[in-house]
Amino acid sequence: MVAARVGVLALQGDVREHVSALTACGVLPVEVKRPADLEGLDGIVLPGGESTTMGKLLRIFELLAPLRELIGSGLPAYGTCAGMILLASEVVDGRHDQELLGGLDITVRRNAFGSQVHSFEGPVEVAGVGSVHGVFIRAPWVERAGSSVEVLASVGEHPVAVRQGHLLATSFHPELTGDERMHDYFVTRVVS
Ligand code: GLN
Repeated sequence: MVAARVGVLALQGDVREHVSALTACGVLPVEVKRPADLEGLDGIVLPGGESTTMGKLLRIFELLAPLRELIGSGLPAYGTCAGMILLASEVVDGRHDQELLGGLDITVRRNAFGSQVHSFEGPVEVAGVGSVHGVFIRAPWVERAGSSVEVLASVGEHPVAVRQGHLLATSFHPELTGDERMHDYFVTRVVS
C-alpha cells in the first residue's frame, strides 16, 4: 500500500516537529510552501505559530485561495493552536484584517488563556485518544461550537480539541511532546 501523503504547512511555526510525528505514524510528510506542493495530498497539518503572520504569508505565497478551496471540498486538515485559529470560521480578539482558511464551524478566542506568562501544561482527556500532555502556548479556546462540531476535550468549560468531519483542531501542541497519539488519530481516523 502506498503511504498517505500528508502536508505540513511550512511557512512558519513548528514544522519539523509535525514532520517527525507524521513520519512516526507511517505517512509521507510533505512540506507545503507553494501551491504545487498541495498536489496529491491526502491531508494537511497546520502548525502553531502566529495566526496573523501565517494568514499574511498564506496570501503572499498564493496558498490562501487554493487551500481554502481544498479544505472546503473535503481535504482532511488538523490545526494545532494557530492552526486551529486558521481553520475557524470566526475569531474573537484577532486582527481586523486577519485572514482565515475557515471550514470549521467554531468561534475561537485568540490568546484566550493569556499571554506568554500564562502559557501552561497539564493533562487533557481527549475522547477517542485518552489522557495527553497538553502544552498550551498563548493558546486559543473555542468560544462557540456549531451543532455539527464534536468536542473531544475541554479545559474547564472551554473546548480545546474539536472535530467536524474531515477537520480536527487542538488548542495545544501534541507535536512538542513526543506523543504521536493525536497525529495517529488524525491519520487513522480523519485522513483514512
Ligand atoms: N497566539 C497565537 C496566535 O494568535 C497562537 C500561538 C500558538 O500557535 N502557539 O496565532
